[in-house]
Amino acid sequence: MKIGVLALQGDFIEHRHSLSSLGVESVEVRLPAQLDGLDGLIIPGGESTTIGKLMVAYQFMEPLRSLAREKAIWGTCAGAILLSQDAGREQDLLKVMDIKIARNAFGRQVNSFETDLQAPFLEPAEPPYHAVFIRAPIITQVFGRAEPLIALEDGRVVAARQGKLLATSFHPELTPDTRFHRYFLELARLPHAE
Ligand code: GLN
Repeated sequence: MKIGVLALQGDFIEHRHSLSSLGVESVEVRLPAQLDGLDGLIIPGGESTTIGKLMVAYQFMEPLRSLAREKAIWGTCAGAILLSQDAGREQDLLKVMDIKIARNAFGRQVNSFETDLQAPFLEPAEPPYHAVFIRAPIITQVFGRAEPLIALEDGRVVAARQGKLLATSFHPELTPDTRFHRYFLELARLPHAE
């Protein structure tokens, strides 16, 4: 299993640490040619406008769209925004997941928070998943081929899946709980994109 972590901007190191704690080899991806041979890719949190601009500058857009047709891709926070069809404003997006997103939906940096989430699809499903939200987006619409995975108590969706594509508003790479990374590795092991 070889997982790439897009290393243009954001907290890619933390994802690599989570993967290595699971004994999984990961590579920092800075050029499109480094996507070859990967079983999956993580797009980290950071600043989605910046990452999108760098994706365009380094000619990542089409190679990443091709990758999304076959392989697993997981976007955390800014990464989830980049996977979406629509982030409510003009910016470079991959548009590979049938989700709409509202950026900074919980307010500013000081309104960042942590909360426990019910995530019955994780192994094991208990205890609840303790999630870190940092200037996080909300998934405002899940349509087409995408399905909601986790909602807050008020119903706002914070995780969605579409075949081997995964979007989370929060940052599993910032906690020692590796259940989400293990879930993504399962998606990466699925034989082909649904
Ligand atoms: N607020 C950032 C954005 O809109 C995302 C923040 C994060 O990735 N933690 O791009």
